[in-house]
Amino acid sequence: MTQPGPSTDSTSDTADSSIGGGTTHFGFADVAIDKKTARVGAVFDSVAARYDLMNDLMSGGVHRLWKATFVRRLGLRPGAHVLDVAGGTGDIAFRMLDRLDGDGRVTVCDINREMLTVGTARAIDRGLLPAAGTLDWVCGNAEALPIADMSVDAYTIAFGLRNVTHIDLALAEARRVLKPGGRFFCLEFSHVVVPVLADLYERYSFAVLPRIGQLVANDRDAYQYLVESIRRFPPQDELLERMAKAGLARTRCENLSGGIVAIHSGWRL
Ligand code: SAM
Repeated sequence: MTQPGPSTDSTSDTADSSIGGGTTHFGFADVAIDKKTARVGAVFDSVAARYDLMNDLMSGGVHRLWKATFVRRLGLRPGAHVLDVAGGTGDIAFRMLDRLDGDGRVTVCDINREMLTVGTARAIDRGLLPAAGTLDWVCGNAEALPIADMSVDAYTIAFGLRNVTHIDLALAEARRVLKPGGRFFCLEFSHVVVPVLADLYERYSFAVLPRIGQLVANDRDAYQYLVESIRRFPPQDELLERMAKAGLARTRCENLSGGIVAIHSGWRL
C-alpha cells in the first residue's frame, strides 16, 4: 500500500445506519452527513467539462470496455424504459439507446445540473433531440427519485452509487421505481480480488490519478476523492447483502478486471 487508508468495512458507515445525524465519509475524511451531498456536488461541478476526457486518461480507455460489457449484460428488450441514475453526461444512456435502436426510452437522472448540461449538449451533437421522446434528462437525488412507483423496466447506476450518502436509501428507491419483473444493475469500482493486481492498482491509483486530475482538470482534490471513495465503497459481498435487504431478489455479482470494477444485479419480483 502506498497510502494508508481507513478500513473498507463500511459497517462503520454511519450514513446508512443512523440517517439524520452524525458523520459519514467523504473519501478518507469524515464530514457531517448533511454536507456530503453538497461536497460530492462540488466535485462534479468542478470536473464536468473534462469528465469524459478524464475517464479515458485515467483508465487508458478501459472504462469503455467496462461500460460496453455492462450495457450488454442488461439484455435490453425492444420498448424498454430504462432509468439511468447518476447518469451524468450520458455515456451509459447513449450506449443503451444504440442497443435499443430507436425502440425504447432512457431517462437520465442526476443530482448535478452541470453534468446534465454537458450531457444534453452531447445528445444534441448526436442528433438526439429532446422532442424525440427517446431520451430525457431529470435533475434528482438517487435517495429520493422524482420518478413514479413501478414505472421502469430497468434501473441502472454506473459509477454513481459510491457517491451517494445513504446507499440503502438509494437501493430502496431503485426497488420502488422498478416494475415487478424489472431489473437493477450497478457498475461500480470495487475491491480487487487478485493480490498482485491489488498492489499495483493501489500504487497506480494513489500515485497517478490525482496527478492526472491536477494536469487535465486542474483539480487534484477531486481525483484524490475519487481514489479514496473507491476504497470506502462496500466490498462485493456486503453490497449483495444490502441489495437483498432492500428487497432485491436473485442478486449476483460479476467482477471485471479482477474486481477493479464489479457489476451487481438483481430483480424486483
Ligand atoms: N454514470 C455516468 C458515467 O458512468 O459516465 C456518470 C458517473 S459520475 C462518476 C457520478 C455521477 O453521480 C455524477 O454525475 C454525480 O453528479 C452523480 N451523483 C452523485 N451523487 C448523486 C446522487 N445522490 N443522486 C444522483 N446522482 C448523483
